[in-house]
Amino acid sequence: MPQPLEVVLATHNAHKVAEFQHILGDALPGLIVLPYDGPEPVEDGTSFDENAFIKARAAASHTGRIALADDSGIAVDVMGGSPGIFSARWAGPGRGAEANLELLLAQLGDIRDPHRTAHFHCTIALVVPGAAGGEPHEFAAVGTWPGRIATERAGVNGFGYDPIFLPDGFDVSAAELAPEVKNAHSHRARAFRALLPELERVARFG
Ligand code: IMP
Repeated sequence: MPQPLEVVLATHNAHKVAEFQHILGDALPGLIVLPYDGPEPVEDGTSFDENAFIKARAAASHTGRIALADDSGIAVDVMGGSPGIFSARWAGPGRGAEANLELLLAQLGDIRDPHRTAHFHCTIALVVPGAAGGEPHEFAAVGTWPGRIATERAGVNGFGYDPIFLPDGFDVSAAELAPEVKNAHSHRARAFRALLPELERVARFG
């Protein structure tokens, strides 16, 4: 990368800033991921892409900088893609990851294996403010990780729905995978891989 590129990440989560810095900074030396401390917009989109762009556009217009935002969740086929954008609060606001996971397992109680297919989804939205007030440049990097919902939980690694997600190609849950294995295969890893060429292009040509 010819010159340093600063991007602001639309999250107040310091852990996420460190993750983005680690992954993107390794691939694009000179890239600096800055935390965002401005107002958080209402996430009233109806898809992962819409919610990611709502956050990235807010950060870009508040800071005037190139902005990134991610939005992710789990989509179960027999449930028409739910929990989807409601993944973080599936059991109700403030109930937490354990309650979300238990509710999903209960809802799928009568569904037998060929019909328990699901995938994790991650969209990373990139918004590059337009020069001299012109139109911004926008790009959506999408990653999906296909698998199935287990009938019971297993494993202690990861977070959220990992203990009940059986990724295709593995015979263990995502929570039984070593973190570096999950980080190489996950929806988030795939979205990062889709984002990198575009970020490199922005770094070179603006
Ligand atoms: P966020 O958009 O990254 O905050 O993720 C929203 C929700 O999706 C999380 O609270 C989790 O419930 C779920 N989720 C997203 N990614 C993962 C994952 O890698 N493992 C387990 N759950 C996830």
